[in-house]
Amino acid sequence: MSDTKANNDAHLNLYEMATAQFERAADAIKLDPAIRAILTEPKSEISFNFPVRMDDGRIRMFKGYRIQHNNILGPYKGGIRYHHDVDIHEVKALAAWMTWKTSLAGLPFGGAKGGVTCRPGELSRTEMERLTRRFTHALGNNIGTEYDIPAPDVGTNSQIMDWMMDTHVNTVSILDRTRGKGVVTGKSLACGGSKGREKATGQGVCHIIEAWAKESGRSVKGLKIAVQGFGNVGYWTCKIIAEMGATVVAVMDHTGAVANPAGIDVAGLKAWMDANKKLPGFAGAPEVSADAFWSADCDVMVPAAIENQITGRTAPMIKAKVVVEGANGPTTTAGDANLASRGIPVVPDILANSGGVIVSFFEWLQNRASEYWELDEVDARLKRQILEAWSNVSRTAKERNIDLRTAAYAVALLRIAEAYRARGVFP
Ligand code: NAD
Repeated sequence: MSDTKANNDAHLNLYEMATAQFERAADAIKLDPAIRAILTEPKSEISFNFPVRMDDGRIRMFKGYRIQHNNILGPYKGGIRYHHDVDIHEVKALAAWMTWKTSLAGLPFGGAKGGVTCRPGELSRTEMERLTRRFTHALGNNIGTEYDIPAPDVGTNSQIMDWMMDTHVNTVSILDRTRGKGVVTGKSLACGGSKGREKATGQGVCHIIEAWAKESGRSVKGLKIAVQGFGNVGYWTCKIIAEMGATVVAVMDHTGAVANPAGIDVAGLKAWMDANKKLPGFAGAPEVSADAFWSADCDVMVPAAIENQITGRTAPMIKAKVVVEGANGPTTTAGDANLASRGIPVVPDILANSGGVIVSFFEWLQNRASEYWELDEVDARLKRQILEAWSNVSRTAKERNIDLRTAAYAVALLRIAEAYRARGVFP
């Protein structure tokens, strides 16, 4: 529906945008220059080209990445993206955001991200499996249960994680195979995944919307929500927030936008989408333009698709009272400035979409202990952990008189800085 890179109105690549956010927060907390220098670049950048046999017998080359940004707090952690826009700058930005996200959520993890530049919609299931297994094999010892733990992201899902896990355990010693299952999170339940992981990011977004509503004297019941993206994060956000009593008034994905001020039947839209692979045409909500989506009369705008969507051009159209970032990096520097000038707070990605990595941590713990937790236990722990992060950010923003994004970075950076101060720099 909108182009990712062309939308980057600041003409910065995504890593430069992520670095600008980091520097603003580093200035606000007067971060030690040595720690600042360490955190400015990733610890390691892995990129490689690998061959995959297509169904017609041809060999095609693909480019894969794994960027390991920082591991002072624990093993590297972060998703794997399959998308045609994947490049080194994007993966570096996403890896840095994972470092801040895991720190802010109080997890014993660092940050990483990976991806393959490809069009998953154009690959058959068998091509997807061969690509995933060859990519995992090429990653080799750069991933591991105690070292670097991938997860799903845009264009990947539990099936891809199951193939990654299976490939990994088949390349390690037989003595390490049980432990090796924890090499990725977001697996299917049959392969050691956690109950509640699939919905976790959307669930977390809804906890954050509820916390914002409570703090601003509102109730979720009756709130009007617009959501960009109807994949994992977007769909679960729509479903759960509607169950909490809010009204989903507009949804947009790469196939188009639909809106209905009286409320969209989320289950109906999902059934239509599964059958037709597009949003427009759904009987319960007429198709609207992308600009009409951004201008929707709503209380909460949830960008839950890809980066660079709320820009200097689209931000001025937004009428919502708050923006809650389900996606990573959906708001450009110019978009942020416009929303701030109009008093619209932005709950940043590293807080709002941290539900996924929090439940990934629970999956990793369950795998280590060979345990299976019930859904109510996963849900209760997720709620406690994400709301604690919310109150830390909200309090810091008020105490330091800074916006929520800078406050979220400040909380995350202070925890990392404390670890560096205590450990020192080797040798
Ligand atoms: P997904 O692949 O399941 O869904 C992506 C959605 O974005 C789809 O609905 C797609 O149509 C839409 N989209 C893609 N290009 C678009 C465009 N140009 N314009 C409008 N819509 C477009 O991915 P996901 O897992 O839901 O991830 C969405 C975002 O949330 C990403 O930024 C991801 O990094 C972030 N995120 C995901 C998780 C997770 O657990 N899956 C966790 C944290 C953050």
